[in-house]
Amino acid sequence: MTNQMDALEVAQLQLEKAASKMNLDPNILTQLKEPERVLIVSIPVKMDNGVVKVFTGFRSQYNTARGPAKGGVRYHPDVSLDEMKALSAWMTWKCAVAGIPYGGAKGGVICNPKEMSEGELERLSRRYIYEISSIIGPKKDIPAPDVYTTPKIMGWYIDTYNKLTGEASFSTITGKPLELWGSEGRKEATARGLSYTVELAAKKLNINPLEATVVIQGYGNAGSISAKLLNEQGYKIIGVSDSKGGAYNPQGIDPSEILDYKTKTSTVKGFPKAEFISNKDLLEIECDVLVPAALEGVITEKNANNIKAKIIAEAANGPTTPGADEILYQRGVFMIPDILANAGGVTVSYFEWIQGLYGYFWDEERVNRRLKKLMVRAFNEVLKLAQREKIDNRTAAYIYAVSQVAEAMKARGIWP
Ligand code: NAD
Repeated sequence: MTNQMDALEVAQLQLEKAASKMNLDPNILTQLKEPERVLIVSIPVKMDNGVVKVFTGFRSQYNTARGPAKGGVRYHPDVSLDEMKALSAWMTWKCAVAGIPYGGAKGGVICNPKEMSEGELERLSRRYIYEISSIIGPKKDIPAPDVYTTPKIMGWYIDTYNKLTGEASFSTITGKPLELWGSEGRKEATARGLSYTVELAAKKLNINPLEATVVIQGYGNAGSISAKLLNEQGYKIIGVSDSKGGAYNPQGIDPSEILDYKTKTSTVKGFPKAEFISNKDLLEIECDVLVPAALEGVITEKNANNIKAKIIAEAANGPTTPGADEILYQRGVFMIPDILANAGGVTVSYFEWIQGLYGYFWDEERVNRRLKKLMVRAFNEVLKLAQREKIDNRTAAYIYAVSQVAEAMKARGIWP
C-alpha cells in the first residue's frame, strides 16, 4: 500500500532484519515468511438498487504457535491479499510483544464503506462472516474491528456466527458493543495503551507533557482517542488530519471540539479554529510527539529527514518503511513501534475474550489497571533489549516477539 514498497515487503524486511541480528534458526525463519493459511472469498451482496455486486474478502492466519489467530477486519478500497498477509504478521508479533496467548490474523474486504448504505454494509458483513465461518471460532481465530469497521459491525458478526453454530456465545468476536458483552474500555484501549507508552518514553527523554506538543495523522478510533488521552496528560494537540486533509493551530486544538466538528461534517478539514494543512505537511510539523494513526507507509525515506518530532508513537500498523526507520534511528528519534505502541487494542480484546469465555465481566477500572500492567511490562522488555543490544526499538520488539514465537514453534515441532 506504500508508494515505494508494499506492506508485505516491509513486513518481510523487518522480519529478516531481526532474524539476522538474533541468529534465528533458518528452519524457523523459512516457516515464518508466509502465513499458515489464507482464505479468499467472494461475497455477493444485493445492493439497494437490486443489482448484485460481488466483493472480494480475505482472512490471513499468519501463525498459531502461541494460540488462536487474532486480528481485525478492514473495509477499504485498497485492501489486498498482500496487505492482509503483512497485517497478520504484525498481529503475530504484537500479541507476542504484549505477552498474550494468541497468534496473528487479519481480514479485509475490498469495498468503500463510505459509499454503502447501512443495509448493504450489514449484508456484506454477514455474508463475509458466513464465508469465513469454517476457520474462525473462540479457539481458532477471533476477528475484531480495524479501519472502517465498528462495534455495530462486530454485533452483526457475532449474531451471524451464533445463528450458524446454534449457540449464543460471545468469544468468537471482540470489539463488540457493550450490550453484546463487549468489554468496558475496549473502545479506548488502543489509544490508552499508546498513551501509557508515550508517558514512559517522555519520562526517558525528560519531556514535560505540560510543555509538549502532539501531532496526529488520522482522526478515527485510535487517533481521536489518543488526542483526548494525551491532552488529559497535559500535551497540547497542535495538528490533526483525516483522509480529506488536516487542521493546524500552534496554540492548540481542543480534541473534543474538533471531534464534534468531524461528527457533523465527516472531516476535520475546515475546522474554523485552525488553518488547513495537507497530510504530507502535517507529518513535518515541529512537535514533540507524532502519532501516525491512519494507514501504512506514510513515513518513508522521502520525508524521514524532515520529521521534527522527538517521539513517534505508531498507532497505525506499518506507517514507517524500513528505509525511514534507519534514518530516524540515526537522527535519534525515539520510535515506539506499532507492535508495541498500539498493542493495547488487542490486549483489551484478549480481556474481552476471557470475560466472554467465563461469562464474568470486569469494570473499567480493572480493565485499565491490567492493561497498564501489560503495556508497561512490554515497553520495559523492548527497551531493555534495545539498550542491551544497542539496536533500534523496532528491531528489539521484533527480536523479543520472534523469539517467543520461535520457541513455541520448536516446542510444537512439525506434524504431520
Ligand atoms: P478508523 O477507521 O477509526 O480511523 C481511520 C482514520 O484514518 C480516519 O480518520 C480516516 O479518515 C483516516 N485516514 C484514512 N486514510 C487516510 C489518509 N490517506 N491520510 C490521512 N488519514 C487517513 O480506524 P482506526 O481503528 O482508528 O485505525 C487506524 C490505524 O490504527 C490503522 O492502521 C489500524 O490498523 C490501527 N490500529 C487500530 C486499532 C484499533 O483498536 N482500532 C488497534 C491497533 C491498530
